[in-house]
Amino acid sequence: MSNLDILNSKNQSFFLPIGGIGEIGGNNYLYSFKGEQIIVDAGISFADDSLPGVDITIPDPYIFLNPSIKPKAMILTHAHEDHVGGLEYYFDKIDFPIYCNQFTYAYIKHKFKRIPDFEKKFHIIKSYQEISFKNFSFQLIPTTHSIPDPTGIFFKTNDGNIYHTGDWKIDKNPVTGDPFDYDNFKILKEENIDLLIGDSTNAGVKEISRSESELDPSFDRLFEDLNGRIIVTCFSSNIARLKTVISNALKHKKKIFVVGRSIKRAITTAIEEKLIDNFEILNEKLFADYNRDNVVLICTGSQGEKNSALSKIANNTHNHIKLSPKDNIIFSSKEIPGNEKAISYLKNSFSYLGLNIISDEDDFVHVSGHPGIQEIKEFYQYVKPISLIPMHGEYLHLKKHLEIAHDLNIEKSLLLLSGDLCELDLKDKNHKLIDQFVIKKLPVIQNSIIEDMNFLSERGKILNNGIVSLNIILNKKLDILKSELHTKGFPFDFDKEFIQEQIKESLLNKILFMKDEMNERSLHDQLEDIAKKTFSKNFSLKPELLIHLSIV
Ligand SMILES: [Zn+2]
Repeated sequence: MSNLDILNSKNQSFFLPIGGIGEIGGNNYLYSFKGEQIIVDAGISFADDSLPGVDITIPDPYIFLNPSIKPKAMILTHAHEDHVGGLEYYFDKIDFPIYCNQFTYAYIKHKFKRIPDFEKKFHIIKSYQEISFKNFSFQLIPTTHSIPDPTGIFFKTNDGNIYHTGDWKIDKNPVTGDPFDYDNFKILKEENIDLLIGDSTNAGVKEISRSESELDPSFDRLFEDLNGRIIVTCFSSNIARLKTVISNALKHKKKIFVVGRSIKRAITTAIEEKLIDNFEILNEKLFADYNRDNVVLICTGSQGEKNSALSKIANNTHNHIKLSPKDNIIFSSKEIPGNEKAISYLKNSFSYLGLNIISDEDDFVHVSGHPGIQEIKEFYQYVKPISLIPMHGEYLHLKKHLEIAHDLNIEKSLLLLSGDLCELDLKDKNHKLIDQFVIKKLPVIQNSIIEDMNFLSERGKILNNGIVSLNIILNKKLDILKSELHTKGFPFDFDKEFIQEQIKESLLNKILFMKDEMNERSLHDQLEDIAKKTFSKNFSLKPELLIHLSIV
C-alpha cells in the first residue's frame, strides 16, 4: 500500500472515497489536507450474490489502518449503519479520536461496552464547535434525515472550504429532532463553499421527499382498518419510522412485539433518549397467545437478509412467531439496489403464507431520507457551492447529480467512484483524478472481518460442484490397502467403485513412473491431480477435493 504515501504530501490535499461512491451504503471517506488525514464515517453495506452466505461487508479499513498514514481523527455524521456499522469490527485498531454528536454516540455506544475505556476514544461535540488541526478545522452542521441529529461537515482549510453533506433531506416537520432550517446553514452561505461533496441517493427523483410526519396518518389509518396481525419491517436505525409505527400502535392499543437484537437495541436507546415513549415490549414466546387483531410486530430484515428473523418468519421456521393467512406485512422501507431478488423471494414467501403485503407501491408507508432533485436545487441555490463531487449513490445517481450541477451552472464538477484518489484544488477547483485503488469489500461473518477471501472462491466452487473426499491408505511397498470416496452436494449419483478404480489405476501408474522421488507429500499431490482429472473427464465438474493419503 506504499503508493498511499502520496497522502502524506505537505503540498497537496486529497479526497479518497474508500466506500460509498458508485454504490448505496458502505460510506467511508478519507480526506487528506497537506499531509493530515481525517476519516469520515465507517459504514457497512449489504453483500450481493457474489458473496455466498455473507450478509454484510465493509470497505477495506486497512486502507487507513496501515502504517503509511496516520489519520488525525474520524468523524461520524450520523448513526445509520451504512455510516457507522463497520466501526465495531476495527474499533480496537483505531488509535485516533472519533468525533460525533451526543445522539450518534448514545446510539452506538452499546457496541463497544465490552472494550475497557472505549469512551475515551469518543469525543462528543456540539454543532458548530470548531475542531482545529494544523492544516484544517471542521464543524458539524445540523441537518434533517430519518434519524435524530444527523450532521453535515464543514471543513475549512487555508486553500478553501468543503461541505460534506452526509445524508440529508429537507424535512420541515420531522418526527424526531429539529426541523430543517436554512438558518443552520448560514455559515456555509457566509463562507465560500469551494467544494460540496453531496448525497446523490435520490438525485434522479423528481418528487420531493415529503416529511416523515406525513406518514403518521397513513399508519393511523392502516392500524385502524387492517384486520389480523400487522408486521412492520423497516431498518432498525430508522428511529423516526420506529417512532411513527410505535406511537400509532400505542394509539390503537396494540400489543407490541419486537423481533431482532438490533431493532430492540435501537428502540431501547430511543426510549432512553426520550425520543419514543416508554412501552412494554412483549416476550415473543407469547406471540400466539394474543388476539390476532390486536398485535403489531416490528422487525428488521426488509432487504431479504437470509439470516434475519424476518426470513425465518417468512419460511415458517421461526421458533415462536407463526403467522396466519390474512395477517398483514408492511414493508416500510425502500429496496436497496442489488437486494431486489432477495426481497422478491421474501415477499413471495409471505404471499405463500397467505399474507396481505403492503409496500410503498401499494400505500403511503415510506418516505425517503434523502433529497430529490427539487430539494437539492433549492439547497444548492442557498449555499452556492462552486464545485461538486457527487457521493452516496450508484453510477446512475451520480450522473443525475452532475446534471443538477450543470443546471445550476456548477461547472467544475467531478465524477469519482470508490477507490479513486482525487487531488483537490480548492483554489481553482480543477480537482483531478490521479490514481485508482482497488478497495476490497471485506465480508463480516460472526462479528469478524474476514481478510483472506479465499474461502469465498471455495464456497462458490462447493456451491456449483460439491465436495469430494478421497481417502487412500498405502503400505510401505505402496500397495493400496484401502480407499474410500465420499461426496457432499455433488449433483450426480454415480458408481463410486468405478471411479475409485480409475483413480487407483492412475495412481499406481504414477507410482511406477515416480519410483524413487516418492514421499507422502508428492503422492498426495499426484493423487489430488489424478482425482481432479478423473472428475473433470467423467463429469465435466471441478468439485472441492479433500484428499487424505497416508502410508502405514
Ligand atoms: Zn442515513
